[in-house]
Amino acid sequence: MTDNALPTSLDQARERLNNALKMAERPLNSATLLAVSKTKPAAMIRQAWQHGQREFGENYLQEALEKQAELADLEAIVWHFIGPLQSNKTRAVAENFAWVHSVDRLKIAKRLSEQRPKHLPPLNICLQVNISREDSKSGVMPDEVMSLASEVATLPHIKLRGLMAIPAPAKSLEEQRVPLAALRQLLKDLQAALPNAPLDTLSMGMSDDLEAAVLEGATLVRLGTAIFGARSTQRIAQ
Ligand SMILES: *Cc1c(COP(=O)(O)O)cnc(C)c1O
Repeated sequence: MTDNALPTSLDQARERLNNALKMAERPLNSATLLAVSKTKPAAMIRQAWQHGQREFGENYLQEALEKQAELADLEAIVWHFIGPLQSNKTRAVAENFAWVHSVDRLKIAKRLSEQRPKHLPPLNICLQVNISREDSKSGVMPDEVMSLASEVATLPHIKLRGLMAIPAPAKSLEEQRVPLAALRQLLKDLQAALPNAPLDTLSMGMSDDLEAAVLEGATLVRLGTAIFGARSTQRIAQ
């Protein structure tokens, strides 16, 4: 990327989000833009931060910790862990992130709560839902969300904020909306069942389905490619 490419694509992503919010007749500040920086160098995150971006999403723990160390001077940066999470990674995630979007089992939630340092605010959690019921995908099945959420909501050092999903790819806007609407309904059901939980977050919408997600009430959209450009297909070790 040239020097201006990142500021330009970030501006375009913001404009795209604003246009989607207008189309949905929603207030302009009712969804947060999360910049998904996996596989991208720390220098690009710094550039995005200099251009006003504060929320960043990472998928691979080791890679994220290295970038966090390099970027420790950036004030008010907010790190979100959005990748698959194994038990042996929970401590480092609990210590180094403000949010985790990919919790799909009670065991992981319990560990995050136990391992969250007591001097930090509670860790914000979203439950990842396998909304398209794909065999290969992580996430709790839709019919198991309620029981998992009611247990997670009782844990002391985490805050259950809402639901996250990565729906199966779909061709049209109308097709994209179907699973996103289902996730929205699941959150409504949870809000009714757990009135004391701070359930305000629908983490959905990526570079290919941002508009559909905003129409279905996304409050936190996760854009990677649209901001940082295409990723090389080579996966970085976790
Ligand atoms: C990579 C990733 C994204 C960003 O995807 P793009 O299509 O590049 O916008 C969003 N959410 C999760 C969980 C991801 O792993």
